[in-house]
Amino acid sequence: MSGAAPKRVLLASNNRHKLIEFRRILGGSIVVVGAEEARIALQVDETGATMAENARIKALAFAAETDMAAIADDSGLEVDALSGAPGVHSSRFEGLGSDAARNRRLLELLDGVPAAERTARFRCAVVVVRGAEVIFETQATCEGAIAKRAGGQAGFGYDPIFVPNGLRQTFAEMGAEAKDRSSHRARALRSLRSFVEESGELLA
Ligand code: IMP
Repeated sequence: MSGAAPKRVLLASNNRHKLIEFRRILGGSIVVVGAEEARIALQVDETGATMAENARIKALAFAAETDMAAIADDSGLEVDALSGAPGVHSSRFEGLGSDAARNRRLLELLDGVPAAERTARFRCAVVVVRGAEVIFETQATCEGAIAKRAGGQAGFGYDPIFVPNGLRQTFAEMGAEAKDRSSHRARALRSLRSFVEESGELLA
């Protein structure tokens, strides 16, 4: 780090779980401001065909509302036995209205599928926009498998049914610190931190 102080950067999301993870993972290296805190109420249609496209759409839309740079995260779960579903539709899979309902449905769809064929990954696309310019983008994955049953209370979304490779617990069972050692979001945000340290962007 150059010694310069971090600037405030807007998180282009209304998902409070993502805000918590961003702050936890980035620590003091970037000061992340939530949309609510910045009094920006924006619902962006995620019309992209990929998470990378959707992250760009969200970052550009939020950046247009503020003088701060905006960071967007578009992420989701890809299940191989379901040809990559729910993928870009992770937050609204089959129109189901809660994380618990989506997890139940995924477990039902995989009923009888043997352990070796339950492979899946979380993917996270991160894009940073200043004004109308994309200044950084990256993608990261976390490989794993879908558990036989939901377990654990920590985290959000599909955390109770995802077991990362090499471990035996779901993300929801292992808790925040362990999730941050291997998650898709932590990997993408570590690349962002390196970019900030090397380029001096997002520093005052
Ligand atoms: P987005 O806001 O369109 O990026 O929606 C991402 C959706 O993917 C979330 O609503 C969750 O259902 C799921 N998701 C993304 N990242 C995670 C994670 O770290 N744990 C569990 N579910 C996640």
